[in-house]
Amino acid sequence: MQLDLSEEQVQIRDAVRQLCVSEFAPHARRWDQESHVPRAAIERLAEQGFLGMAIPEAWGGIGYDSRTITVVLEEISRVSAALGIMIAVHNSVGALPVFRFGTDEQRRRFLPPLVSKELGAFSLSEPGAGSDAGAIQSTAVLEGDHYVLNGTKNWVTNGSHAGVYLIFARTDREAGSRGLSTFIVERGARGLVVGKTEDKMGLRGSDTVTLSLEGLEVPVSQRLGAEGDGFKIAMSMLDAGRIGVAAQAIGVMQAAFEESVKYAQQREAFGGPIAKIQAVQFKLAEMERRLQCARLLARRAAWLKDTDQPHTRAASVAKLYASEAATWVTHQAIQVHGGYGYVKEYAVEQLYRDARVMEIYEGTSEIQRLVIARSLLREGVAV
Ligand SMILES: Cc1cc2nc3c(=O)[nH]c(=O)nc-3n(C[C@H](O)[C@H](O)[C@H](O)COP(=O)(O)OP(=O)(O)OC[C@H]3O[C@@H](n4cnc5c(N)ncnc54)[C@H](O)[C@@H]3O)c2cc1C
Repeated sequence: MQLDLSEEQVQIRDAVRQLCVSEFAPHARRWDQESHVPRAAIERLAEQGFLGMAIPEAWGGIGYDSRTITVVLEEISRVSAALGIMIAVHNSVGALPVFRFGTDEQRRRFLPPLVSKELGAFSLSEPGAGSDAGAIQSTAVLEGDHYVLNGTKNWVTNGSHAGVYLIFARTDREAGSRGLSTFIVERGARGLVVGKTEDKMGLRGSDTVTLSLEGLEVPVSQRLGAEGDGFKIAMSMLDAGRIGVAAQAIGVMQAAFEESVKYAQQREAFGGPIAKIQAVQFKLAEMERRLQCARLLARRAAWLKDTDQPHTRAASVAKLYASEAATWVTHQAIQVHGGYGYVKEYAVEQLYRDARVMEIYEGTSEIQRLVIARSLLREGVAV
């Protein structure tokens, strides 16, 4: 198993870090306060090819493997978890499915904007169907050469300004999760109505919206995969997505850890820096342990994916561990800061809010445990 970064990956990491620290870090707190990441930040990442990380060069992308994508997402999330989720969703569940399941005609039409300037959105969840994605109620009815979509989708990351949406709707009322299909829809399509933006606890710079499908006509040529393949497409893409969430969590954790070490060395109590107090040292040591474990698990899952080995269980293990570790580390980071950790002047306040959702989206911690348990009972325990 290749867990160390190659020389090239180290160079990429250092270049991304430089970009993020010099150009994004000075604004990340303001993005949180204003609940908005400006388009210019996306354009800057697009210039570096980061909208096409998962797409092969032959199709206009930069063709990074999963380990390298993990490194990039970690660095972006270290300075702005909001920008991190926008780029993670775009790459892993926005653009990649078009390449993986699209016809050559669909790839030719939709990949160029996705790898160069437009964000992708993945619209699976509904008000009544989150963990239970097979219960989707939105319908897609075939009428001649097009489908007519009706229903309500929610929690759509990048949803207010995406260029391309992947929308999951029911083409067969009787077939349960086998009755779902996936449609590629462009921004501005008549009948695609962007609704309210959620007022979130964290990741405030990233937009999360409700979409109404109101007689939305989608040509048959824009169905991704076969009729009934929707659930399969969604679940297979979530494997990559979950490795991405682990990377986001690691980035947030790294930032909280660094802030805690710095603060503990500066803050004085009882005649010396609090870093000299064993209770504080133990917190820092435990942060380091969880951070290292999370990074190794994410790299392992990514390596399994890169080497075409089954990685569903490993992706869930990495996502589950990293997201819970991020919640723990950011919680303890506030503790190390005392009262100062509770006010917006200090970065850990935002990191704590940003980390929390990582235990929820792309499958809650409970769902990850179900995935892991089902896999180990079916395929045997890992050695
Ligand atoms: C900021 C944000 C961004 C998001 N972005 C997107 C996006 O871009 N696209 C998209 O499609 N969705 C997105 N989501 C939706 C997200 O994936 C769902 O919120 C998540 O899957 C949980 O669904 P739910 O909120 O309906 O909770 P529910 O499914 O109602 O779950 C409620 C609780 O019940 C538990 N539970 C449910 N079923 C089981 C079970 N079988 N066993 C054990 N426990 C169970 C859950 O773990 C949870 O604790 C986003 C959500 C947020 C908050």
